[in-house]
Amino acid sequence: MTVVKHPLVQHKLSLMRDRTTNTATFRDLCREIGMLMGYELLRDLELSDHSIETPVGPMRAPVIAGKKPVLAPILRAGMGLMEGVLDLMPGARIAHIGLYRDPDTLEAVEYYFKAPDDLAERLVVLIDPMLATGNTAVAAGCRLAERRALNVRLLCLVAAPEGIERFTSAHPSIPVYAAAVDSHLNDHSYIVPGLGDAGDRLYGTQ
Ligand code: URA
Repeated sequence: MTVVKHPLVQHKLSLMRDRTTNTATFRDLCREIGMLMGYELLRDLELSDHSIETPVGPMRAPVIAGKKPVLAPILRAGMGLMEGVLDLMPGARIAHIGLYRDPDTLEAVEYYFKAPDDLAERLVVLIDPMLATGNTAVAAGCRLAERRALNVRLLCLVAAPEGIERFTSAHPSIPVYAAAVDSHLNDHSYIVPGLGDAGDRLYGTQ
Protein backbone atom coordinates (compact mmCIF):
# COMPACT_ATOMS: atom_id res chain seq x y z
CA MET A 1 0.00 0.00 0.00
CA THR A 2 1.41 3.36 -1.02
CA VAL A 3 0.02 6.59 0.43
CA VAL A 4 1.02 9.49 -1.80
CA LYS A 5 1.93 12.15 0.75
CA HIS A 6 3.09 14.82 -1.68
CA PRO A 7 2.01 18.20 -0.23
CA LEU A 8 0.24 19.19 -3.43
CA VAL A 9 -1.85 16.02 -3.32
CA GLN A 10 -2.65 16.52 0.37
CA HIS A 11 -3.57 20.17 -0.12
CA LYS A 12 -5.83 19.48 -3.08
CA LEU A 13 -7.48 16.57 -1.28
CA SER A 14 -8.31 18.83 1.67
CA LEU A 15 -9.96 21.27 -0.73
CA MET A 16 -11.96 18.40 -2.23
CA ARG A 17 -13.10 17.21 1.20
CA ASP A 18 -14.45 20.65 2.13
CA ARG A 19 -18.23 20.53 1.74
CA THR A 20 -18.30 24.12 0.43
CA THR A 21 -16.14 23.26 -2.60
CA ASN A 22 -18.33 23.51 -5.69
CA THR A 23 -18.73 20.96 -8.46
CA ALA A 24 -16.49 22.64 -11.02
CA THR A 25 -13.65 23.10 -8.55
CA PHE A 26 -14.08 19.58 -7.20
CA ARG A 27 -13.80 18.18 -10.74
CA ASP A 28 -10.70 20.27 -11.51
CA LEU A 29 -9.04 19.17 -8.27
CA CYS A 30 -9.84 15.53 -8.93
CA ARG A 31 -8.21 15.74 -12.34
CA GLU A 32 -5.14 17.48 -10.90
CA ILE A 33 -4.74 14.85 -8.18
CA GLY A 34 -5.19 12.14 -10.81
CA MET A 35 -2.24 13.59 -12.67
CA LEU A 36 -0.04 13.88 -9.58
CA MET A 37 -0.87 10.38 -8.37
CA GLY A 38 -0.51 8.96 -11.86
CA TYR A 39 3.01 10.38 -11.90
CA GLU A 40 3.82 8.39 -8.75
CA LEU A 41 2.06 5.22 -9.85
CA LEU A 42 3.83 5.20 -13.22
CA ARG A 43 7.30 6.10 -11.94
CA ASP A 44 8.76 2.64 -12.61
CA LEU A 45 7.52 2.21 -16.19
CA GLU A 46 10.17 0.55 -18.28
CA LEU A 47 12.07 2.51 -20.89
CA SER A 48 13.73 1.40 -24.09
CA ASP A 49 16.11 3.32 -26.31
CA HIS A 50 14.90 4.63 -29.62
CA SER A 51 16.99 6.24 -32.40
CA ILE A 52 16.14 9.85 -33.14
CA GLU A 53 17.89 12.87 -34.65
CA THR A 54 18.05 16.03 -32.58
CA PRO A 55 18.79 19.25 -34.53
CA VAL A 56 22.43 18.66 -33.52
CA GLY A 57 22.90 14.95 -34.16
CA PRO A 58 21.73 11.38 -33.72
CA MET A 59 21.04 9.84 -30.33
CA ARG A 60 19.44 6.85 -28.69
CA ALA A 61 16.65 8.41 -26.63
CA PRO A 62 14.62 6.66 -23.90
CA VAL A 63 10.93 6.16 -24.56
CA ILE A 64 8.33 4.15 -22.65
CA ALA A 65 8.66 0.51 -23.64
CA GLY A 66 5.92 -1.93 -24.54
CA LYS A 67 2.23 -1.55 -25.14
CA LYS A 68 0.36 1.45 -23.82
CA PRO A 69 -1.21 1.01 -20.37
CA VAL A 70 -4.93 0.62 -19.91
CA LEU A 71 -6.80 2.95 -17.59
CA ALA A 72 -9.76 1.13 -16.10
CA PRO A 73 -12.09 3.53 -14.27
CA ILE A 74 -15.01 2.14 -12.33
CA LEU A 75 -17.99 4.21 -13.47
CA ARG A 76 -18.79 6.81 -12.72
CA ALA A 77 -16.51 8.45 -10.15
CA GLY A 78 -13.44 6.71 -11.57
CA MET A 79 -13.77 8.86 -14.69
CA GLY A 80 -12.94 12.02 -12.74
CA LEU A 81 -9.65 10.67 -11.44
CA MET A 82 -8.86 9.00 -14.75
CA GLU A 83 -8.86 12.32 -16.63
CA GLY A 84 -5.68 13.42 -14.89
CA VAL A 85 -3.84 10.17 -15.61
CA LEU A 86 -4.98 10.45 -19.22
CA ASP A 87 -3.49 13.95 -19.36
CA LEU A 88 -0.12 12.29 -18.63
CA MET A 89 -0.60 9.42 -21.07
CA PRO A 90 -2.99 10.57 -23.79
CA GLY A 91 -2.39 7.37 -25.75
CA ALA A 92 -3.49 5.08 -22.92
CA ARG A 93 -6.32 2.68 -23.69
CA ILE A 94 -9.47 2.83 -21.60
CA ALA A 95 -11.49 -0.02 -20.13
CA HIS A 96 -14.88 1.12 -18.83
CA ILE A 97 -16.13 -0.86 -15.87
CA GLY A 98 -19.75 -0.23 -14.94
CA LEU A 99 -20.41 -1.42 -11.40
CA TYR A 100 -22.70 0.01 -8.78
CA ARG A 101 -23.20 -0.77 -5.14
CA ASP A 102 -26.60 -2.28 -4.45
CA PRO A 103 -27.85 0.09 -1.72
CA ASP A 104 -29.39 -2.78 0.29
CA THR A 105 -26.80 -5.53 0.02
CA LEU A 106 -23.81 -3.22 -0.72
CA GLU A 107 -22.72 -5.90 -3.22
CA ALA A 108 -21.24 -4.84 -6.56
CA VAL A 109 -23.56 -5.26 -9.56
CA GLU A 110 -22.05 -5.11 -13.05
CA TYR A 111 -23.96 -3.30 -15.81
CA TYR A 112 -21.18 -2.61 -18.34
CA PHE A 113 -17.71 -3.89 -19.15
CA LYS A 114 -15.70 -3.02 -22.24
CA ALA A 115 -11.93 -3.47 -22.36
CA PRO A 116 -9.20 -4.04 -24.95
CA ASP A 117 -8.69 -7.73 -25.79
CA ASP A 118 -5.00 -7.85 -24.96
CA LEU A 119 -5.10 -6.96 -21.25
CA ALA A 120 -2.52 -9.68 -20.55
CA GLU A 121 0.10 -7.64 -22.38
CA ARG A 122 -0.54 -4.28 -20.71
CA LEU A 123 -0.29 -2.55 -17.37
CA VAL A 124 -3.85 -1.96 -16.17
CA VAL A 125 -4.56 0.92 -13.80
CA LEU A 126 -7.83 0.20 -12.03
CA ILE A 127 -9.32 3.49 -10.82
CA ASP A 128 -11.80 3.67 -7.93
CA PRO A 129 -11.62 6.97 -6.01
CA MET A 130 -13.32 5.78 -2.82
CA LEU A 131 -12.17 2.41 -1.49
CA ALA A 132 -14.96 1.99 1.08
CA THR A 133 -16.19 -1.60 1.61
CA GLY A 134 -13.91 -2.62 -1.24
CA ASN A 135 -16.71 -4.69 -2.83
CA THR A 136 -16.71 -2.84 -6.14
CA ALA A 137 -12.95 -2.75 -6.48
CA VAL A 138 -12.72 -6.46 -5.59
CA ALA A 139 -15.36 -7.29 -8.23
CA ALA A 140 -13.54 -5.16 -10.82
CA GLY A 141 -10.26 -6.89 -9.97
CA CYS A 142 -11.95 -10.27 -10.53
CA ARG A 143 -13.34 -9.18 -13.91
CA LEU A 144 -9.90 -7.98 -14.98
CA ALA A 145 -8.38 -11.28 -13.85
CA GLU A 146 -11.02 -13.18 -15.86
CA ARG A 147 -9.89 -11.16 -18.85
CA ARG A 148 -6.31 -12.22 -18.12
CA ALA A 149 -4.98 -8.90 -16.83
CA LEU A 150 -1.74 -9.90 -15.08
CA ASN A 151 -0.22 -6.56 -14.19
CA VAL A 152 -2.77 -4.43 -12.35
CA ARG A 153 -2.46 -1.48 -9.94
CA LEU A 154 -5.30 0.15 -8.03
CA LEU A 155 -5.48 3.93 -7.84
CA CYS A 156 -7.81 5.49 -5.28
CA LEU A 157 -8.17 8.83 -3.60
CA VAL A 158 -9.45 7.96 -0.13
CA ALA A 159 -9.36 4.47 1.36
CA ALA A 160 -10.99 3.06 4.48
CA PRO A 161 -9.11 0.44 6.52
CA GLU A 162 -12.01 -1.99 5.87
CA GLY A 163 -11.68 -1.56 2.09
CA ILE A 164 -7.91 -1.94 2.12
CA GLU A 165 -8.18 -5.14 4.14
CA ARG A 166 -10.86 -6.58 1.87
CA PHE A 167 -9.12 -5.62 -1.37
CA THR A 168 -5.63 -6.73 -0.40
CA SER A 169 -6.96 -10.08 0.90
CA ALA A 170 -8.83 -10.71 -2.35
CA HIS A 171 -6.10 -9.39 -4.66
CA PRO A 172 -2.75 -9.61 -2.82
CA SER A 173 -0.80 -9.11 -6.04
CA ILE A 174 -2.42 -5.75 -6.90
CA PRO A 175 -0.58 -2.80 -5.33
CA VAL A 176 -2.84 -0.07 -3.93
CA TYR A 177 -2.11 3.66 -4.21
CA ALA A 178 -4.18 6.16 -2.22
CA ALA A 179 -3.89 9.81 -1.18
CA ALA A 180 -5.26 9.11 2.31
CA VAL A 181 -6.38 6.34 4.62
CA ASP A 182 -9.34 7.58 6.66
CA SER A 183 -10.81 6.47 9.97
CA HIS A 184 -13.72 4.07 9.25
CA LEU A 185 -17.02 3.53 7.43
CA ASN A 186 -20.33 4.90 8.71
CA ASP A 187 -23.63 2.96 8.84
CA HIS A 188 -24.21 3.67 5.14
CA SER A 189 -20.69 2.49 4.26
CA TYR A 190 -19.51 5.99 3.49
CA ILE A 191 -15.94 6.80 4.40
CA VAL A 192 -15.51 8.97 7.54
CA PRO A 193 -14.46 11.76 7.27
CA GLY A 194 -14.11 11.09 3.52
CA LEU A 195 -15.47 13.59 1.05
CA GLY A 196 -19.06 12.45 0.58
CA ASP A 197 -20.28 10.78 -2.57
CA ALA A 198 -17.51 11.26 -5.11
CA GLY A 199 -19.80 10.70 -8.13
CA ASP A 200 -22.39 13.19 -6.92
CA ARG A 201 -19.77 15.78 -6.11
CA LEU A 202 -18.04 15.33 -9.48
CA TYR A 203 -21.19 15.50 -11.54
CA GLY A 204 -23.42 17.74 -9.41
CA THR A 205 -26.15 15.15 -8.98
CA GLN A 206 -26.92 15.72 -5.31
N1 URA B 1 -18.42 6.04 -2.41
C1 URA B 1 -18.30 7.36 -2.29
O1 URA B 1 -18.45 8.10 -3.24
N2 URA B 1 -18.01 7.87 -1.06
C2 URA B 1 -17.82 7.09 0.01
O2 URA B 1 -17.56 7.60 1.09
C3 URA B 1 -17.97 5.70 -0.15
C4 URA B 1 -18.26 5.20 -1.36
